[in-house]
Amino acid sequence: MSAFEDKVTSLATGNAEWQTRKEAAFARAQGNMVPVYIDHAKNAEMWDVEGRRFIDFASGIAVCSTGHTNPKVTAAVQQQLQRFSHTAFGLTPYSSAVKLAEELNQLAPGTTPKKTMFVTTGAEAVENSVKIARAFTGRRGVIAFNGAFHGRTMMAMGLTGKVTPYKNLYGPLPGDIYHVPYPIEYHGVTLDETLKALDTLFEVDIAPSDVAAIIVEPVQGEGGFYPASNEFLQALRKLCDEHGIVLIADEIQSGFARTGKFFCCEYAGIEPDLLTVAKGVAGGFPLSAVVGKADIMDAPLPGGLGGTYAGSPIGCSAALAVIDVINEENLVERASQIGTLFASRLSRLQKKHPDVIGDIRARRGAMIALELVKNGDPDQPDADLTKALVTKAWQNGLILLSCGIRGNVIRFLPALTISDDLINEGINTFESCLNGMLR
Ligand code: PMP
Repeated sequence: MSAFEDKVTSLATGNAEWQTRKEAAFARAQGNMVPVYIDHAKNAEMWDVEGRRFIDFASGIAVCSTGHTNPKVTAAVQQQLQRFSHTAFGLTPYSSAVKLAEELNQLAPGTTPKKTMFVTTGAEAVENSVKIARAFTGRRGVIAFNGAFHGRTMMAMGLTGKVTPYKNLYGPLPGDIYHVPYPIEYHGVTLDETLKALDTLFEVDIAPSDVAAIIVEPVQGEGGFYPASNEFLQALRKLCDEHGIVLIADEIQSGFARTGKFFCCEYAGIEPDLLTVAKGVAGGFPLSAVVGKADIMDAPLPGGLGGTYAGSPIGCSAALAVIDVINEENLVERASQIGTLFASRLSRLQKKHPDVIGDIRARRGAMIALELVKNGDPDQPDADLTKALVTKAWQNGLILLSCGIRGNVIRFLPALTISDDLINEGINTFESCLNGMLR
């Protein structure tokens, strides 16, 4: 055993002991949903420090879409590590970052020539997209949506449309941020209501000529996996065109083949001005990007964008391999097949429990969710059942993630490389957990 392994494994044995030590050593705000300490993982399975196996329906929050320790991604990273791990792209650059930027520029929807900039996390990509939009327009306002999640750094937190636990305690928040309703069919929020709220905003709070950007998730992620309708995204595109506002599609969770298109806004056939990319782009290595129309991307002055670790060579090598794997293994189509399989299994379950499974959302590839309610009523969210189900699932070998501004949505984000057998096994576990709890 190496000194490193010895340090990590010998001092504690099981999950409970690690969790106790974690709680003593970490600020409580950095929580963990599941007290399972992972020892190793392969494709859509993980094994914990106690030797137990788990089916992974979370993929590290939509990050490991090409599977854990994907052989091609791992080999690319190992090769890169042997050559160099860091030089600072802003100092002495490297070809992998240039190749990746070229590929992203091609992959981004629409025909307008694109440019890219790299940073490290999703929140940082969001921050930079706002900087770019402001530099391009010379305007101050940014519009986001109720229930949105854009990250935890200051600007991204301000844009996030949920107070607890993200925003209270951390003010003053950045100014010139405005929120309007996100249309959600299941909750009776119509597109008309959203468009009226925008009209009101332009009358009451800020002129459209002062608005730099509208930022939207093509599937609202942390907020509850609510897909944007094509009409909604098309209406935003039209509004932005009318008023010279930059349209930012936050594809951090919905991008990179996850939804059955390379980027989710392709469903609506729109070309966003800027696209934020993170999570699935690098298969588990920290890398994020803003990709957008070249003239907009070039508005900030040289040196105004970047960071020490921006576009890490490890992340860039991983991302180039991820793109190859997505293409070679047809993972865009596979995401749709996964969605169809989940939809058929979950709708059978819904027929059995119509009062509890209020809604199933499986129209956007492998970004699947079900919403748990009481008495079949969308306005009676069952957050307790959701929490208990996540717990029961991991206790039975299935890693699940919840989400939703009311905490009552279970989301399914398996690796796109998962087999049908493993999906069925995971859903069997899910079903028996739910059936057992509702008996
Ligand atoms: N935007 C969206 C749509 C996200 O889903 C997330 C992360 N869940 C973020 C931004 C923030 O990304 P990160 O946690 O990497 O900062």
